[in-house]
Parts: sequence; structure tokens; C-alpha cells
Amino acid sequence: MKNLLDAYSAVAGDDVISHLRQLAVPLRGLRVVHINSTRSGGGVAEILERLVPLMRELGIDAVWEIIEGDGDFYVCTKNMHNALQGARVTISDEMLHAYEETNARNAEQHRSMLEEADVVFIHDPQPAFFLRHCPRRRGKWIWRCHIDIARPYRPIWKYLRGELAAYDASIFSLADFAQQLPHAMYLIPPSIDPLSEKNIDMSDAEISDVLQQLGVNPEEQIMLQVSRFDRFKDPMGVIQAYKLAKVFLPNLSLVLAGGGASDDPEGAIVLDEVRNAAGGDPRIHILDLPPDAHRAINALQRAAVVVLQKSIREGFGLTVTEAMWKGKAVIGGDTGGIRLQVVDHHTGFLVNTPEGAALRVRYLLHNRQKLADMGIKAREFVRENFLLTRHLREYLALILVLTHANGDRIELV
Ligand code: UDP
Repeated sequence: MKNLLDAYSAVAGDDVISHLRQLAVPLRGLRVVHINSTRSGGGVAEILERLVPLMRELGIDAVWEIIEGDGDFYVCTKNMHNALQGARVTISDEMLHAYEETNARNAEQHRSMLEEADVVFIHDPQPAFFLRHCPRRRGKWIWRCHIDIARPYRPIWKYLRGELAAYDASIFSLADFAQQLPHAMYLIPPSIDPLSEKNIDMSDAEISDVLQQLGVNPEEQIMLQVSRFDRFKDPMGVIQAYKLAKVFLPNLSLVLAGGGASDDPEGAIVLDEVRNAAGGDPRIHILDLPPDAHRAINALQRAAVVVLQKSIREGFGLTVTEAMWKGKAVIGGDTGGIRLQVVDHHTGFLVNTPEGAALRVRYLLHNRQKLADMGIKAREFVRENFLLTRHLREYLALILVLTHANGDRIELV
């Protein structure tokens, strides 16, 4: 796509893009390499798909390569991913051997480019062993961790940590997700892409069409939660909140939109419980969506009058960001990354109980001006803090710091 920067300027604002251009001036011509494990599927690939072309438009010589392996490699990295997120899984020496060999082979394939690069971003653990195969590296190497490794299974973390220690810096998404490493550590929160199918503008007619296809009447007053069917997302609490609020708001409907229950046994149980709790109320819509239902989620978030994310535990909570970007006040559980986004009484409300959530729903639906004002603030808050363009700005600032560390001043003109 040509003129990606102009396209982002139209949605994120001219000020945001001119700031990026200014930051990129001293970085022109710099060779930046990103390595991850897949070109498509998953949040990391989604970000790189846009971030790398944007860097290139800004004059940075950015490239994106992936590590490719066979069955054992992927089994090993999947186990490693689970172990880093706390599961007690042991990984056999054979598996670790396959992992290290795959790293060696892929690093060899790209070695001259990697050794010549000014900055290398290694995303997540899959390509973490590239560094040892580039002994003549010139540039700075950064380990970018996208997952929550606050409580890892120790033996696996110890194994990986030995390798990561040699990097020049690491980046975590939230302070709560990080582990101590012996180099500069940075926090760069996640972001959403305002031009993706999930977030791009939709006309009222399109929204209405999509809702009808989902069996939801566009005239209903929708209270929405989008989430996997998972107990930590507290869908039962949302149904309870809806029932309490409904007594005072007879026009209220509830949409619980989720997915993934078919390949997650626990999810299927939660989905059953949710269906039972709904008890045949025709104004409760439980939607089990396919994984690529981005447009459906976009339309639902736009159609909703108020959005809930009543999690009792949460990572960052991208559904909150997505709803706020669509100008919605969010009533969110007082936990994890929801606290970074829902500024209590400003961009939404933080709640701890179904009763609290019901009270806030009633308050907002009876105070439409307040609801609209909060929605405006919510969108602006996301524009400033949680769009892909902010993510890029922080990468540029970090590159600037790492590559100009010896200079006493950086000219940004
Ligand atoms: N999502 C989706 N389909 C679903 C449920 C969620 O596409 O049925 C998306 C949602 O729009 C968001 C992401 O998956 O982009 C969920 O991220 P979040 O951080 O909210 O929660 P997680 O599922 O990672 O705990």
C-alpha cells in the first residue's frame, strides 16, 4: 500500500504522523531487522505487517524475516511459551536440541544481514538463540517480549535467561509482565491498528447489516462484552449485572460475543453455563463467533450503547482498547491492563462486582450526555496512548536512544 502514512494521518491525526516523521529524521537509512516466528496469525504478525512498511515509508531500511522450523521446533516453542506463562512443563533435551538447531540454521541463512544491521528486534522466545550465531554483529539487539512472563516455570526461564542476558535491551508490554534482565529494560504497551478490519470505520448501514446477520435487532439497546468464554472474563457476572440493570431498563439487551469454545474444553463448559444462566431470555444474545469474525466484532462494538469488560483477571485487555476507540465508555473490572485504559469516572468506570457494574450501566443509560462525553474521552485516550502509531513512535524513540547513546545531543529537525 502506498502512502500508508497518509492513511494513518487521516485516522490518528496529522500531529501524530508529523511527530513520527520528525523522530525518523536521524534514523534515515538505518538498517533495522525484525525476526518473529510467523507472517500471519497472532498479534505479533498483525503489528509487524503494518509497522515494517510504516518504518520503510519513514526512510528506515526495515526488513522482516521469520524463523522456520519443523514439527519438533514448534512443539518445543509452544511448550516454552506455556512454561513462560507459568505451566509446569518439562521439555526434553531432544526438543531443546531441535530448537537450538533451528535457530542455528535460520541465523546462518540471514547472518550477513543480521551482522550488518544497526538494530535487530527479536520477537518472543522462538528466535532468541540467533544472537549467539552472529559473533561479528555491529548493531544493537533487542529482545521484544509480547507475553506475560511474570510467573514463569523456573527451569525454562533459567535456560532462556542465559541467552537473553547477552542482548543490549529488552522490551515488555507491561511492568506486571516482566522479569529482571541484566540490561536496559523498556515498557511499551500493546496497541491496536485503527485501519484493521476490526477497527476501521463502518457506516450505519453496514453495522445494521452485520447485526441482522448475527440475529441481533439493530434497534436494541445493546450492552456488550466481547471475550473468550473464560471464567476470568466473568461472563456470569455480566449476565447478573444485566439482570439487575434490566429491572430499571426494560429496553436493555445483552450481547456476549466470544469464540474458541469449540477447541477449548474449558471454554465449552463455560459457554454451557452461560447459556443456562441466560435462561432463554430473548434479549440475551450469546454469539459463538469464528476466529476471523473481525467485522462482526467491529459492528457490535460500534452498535453497543455501553461496553463491559468485567474481567476478574486480565492481561492488557485489547477488547477495552477496541471499544474505547469506537467512542464507547467501558465498564471494566478493576484489574490488569484495564486499569491503564479505563480512567475511573473519565473514560469509563472500574468495578469489582456485578452490582457495581449494574449501577454504572443504569447511571450511564440515564445520563446520556455523560455517556457521550466519556466516549469522546475514551477515543482520545486511545488515540494518544494505544494506537499502532504510538507503538511505532516508541520503537523509534528506543532506536534513537540505543543508536545515539554516545552522542550528547540528538537533533530532531
Ligand atoms: N476476540 C476475537 N474473537 C472472540 C473474542 C475475542 O477476535 O471471540 C479478539 C478481541 O477482539 C481482541 C482479542 O481477541 O482483539 C482478545 O484480546 P484481549 O487482550 O482482550 O484478551 P485475551 O483473549 O488475550 O485474554
